[in-house]
Parts: sequence; C-alpha cells; structure tokens
Amino acid sequence: MQNPKFKNAAGARAPVKVKAKPRRKALQRSKYSKDEVREIFRRFSVQRPEPKGELAHVNPFTLVVAVALSAQATDVGVNKATKELFRVADTPEKMLALGEAKVGDYIRTIGLWRNKAKNVIALSHKLVDEFGGEVPRTREELVTLPGVGRKTANVVMSMAFGIPTMAVDTHIFRIANRIGLAPGKTPDEVEENLMRTIPDDYLFHAHHWLILHGRYTCKARKPECEICVIADICKSKEKTCDIPAPLVELPAQVIG
Ligand code: SF4
Repeated sequence: MQNPKFKNAAGARAPVKVKAKPRRKALQRSKYSKDEVREIFRRFSVQRPEPKGELAHVNPFTLVVAVALSAQATDVGVNKATKELFRVADTPEKMLALGEAKVGDYIRTIGLWRNKAKNVIALSHKLVDEFGGEVPRTREELVTLPGVGRKTANVVMSMAFGIPTMAVDTHIFRIANRIGLAPGKTPDEVEENLMRTIPDDYLFHAHHWLILHGRYTCKARKPECEICVIADICKSKEKTCDIPAPLVELPAQVIG
C-alpha cells in the first residue's frame, strides 16, 4: 500500500510503503445451522435445567482457590482436599494466617500440591494487598492473580458473578471439535467460536452443559451415543449409534 502524504528528498510526493495490518485468522465455521444449535442447547436445558459446577466452594475466594487447585486434578479429588481446608480458611486473610506449609498439608493428595500451595498463598497476598481482600470481577484483574489463567478467570466470572463466559476445558475442547459445533485449534479459538455460535439466552449455562455432556455422555475414549440426547442432530464421524444426522435443517415443529 502506498501513502502519498510523504515527500522524497526532492520535495516530490514519493510512494511510501505502509505495512498492511496482519489479517485476523478466520474462525472455522460450525457444522450446524442456527436452528440446529438452538435445538442442541434446548435439549441440554431440558435434560439439566439447573446445571451446577461440581467444585465445592463457599464464596468467590474459595472458588478461585478450588479452580486453581483443579488444574490436572479431578473435581472429586479437589473437593476431598478442600473440605477441611475451607473449614479453617475461607478468606485470604485466614489462608495467610494458616501459612504455606499447613496449606500444603491439606492439599497433599492433589497433584502438583507444592506449587499449588505456593500459589494459594501468593494469590491470597495479592488479594489482601491490592484488592482489599475481595476477589475482582474482571478477567484482566483476575489473571493477574498467581495460578489464575484465562480458563480459571472465566469459571470464576461465571460461577461467582453470573457473567456469561466460556471456560474451555478438556471436555469442551473435545466436544467442540469432535461434533464440529465450534471447531478450533486452540482453546482460545474454541472459546471465541462458541461465544459466537451459542445463542445468548443459552450462553450462561452452556459451559456447564457442555462439561457435563463431555463427562457423562460424549466421553473421551468412547462416546455413549446410545444415550445421547442430541444423537439425531450430531454430525460427528465418531458417532457410534446408527441414528443418522439430519441431511437438511430441522423443520420448525421439531425446533419448537
Ligand atoms: S452422538 Fe455421540 S459423538 Fe455425538 S454428541 Fe452424542 S455422544 Fe457425542
């Protein structure tokens, strides 16, 4: 591209090359029409009207800690360890009073516990020093806490403050790509694609619906398609039952 504003040494207008802005990579399209996506989430909403996260917590602070501890660990394992921990320390101040060694004792059954105990103390410090002991509400602030990445921040925003977000965990990443709902090469791509694909009125619970669907039905090794509520809509090549995917968009009366 040339910018005619600039003059050369002789004073004449000289072409100056202006670097073109790098083009944003286009997201891959969903395999489903708008009506099909709406029908998928309508069925999830009937199956689980009030989906809940399975990480035990008593306030936003314990939620941040629980989510940070859950990296590469199961919710059941984290809940077992935090049951006693949160009984004695449910605020950053109490966590600091407990100290890193004792926090470590409580969470010893969780993988990477040494590092996680360090992070729990460091994030408690930061909350007390910079946020008046309160958990901040924005993603920008949340990710400044030690041990808190974008996924944890999204979970906290949604579960603690009711802000619709899409925290892409291993289940959501698998489903989005396996069935072609919102394909993407990275969790960030899948997150952006899902936020664009899912109808606004289903967005708030979508995160939990997809996680629970991945945990109990569309499992990693062998999806249980025979009991899947969206089997007749699903266009995955990995589908193991013989219900065909629709060749055309669902008729209005099915969509309801
Ligand atoms: S039909 Fe099978 S592959 Fe498709 S969403 Fe259901 S469980 Fe997953």
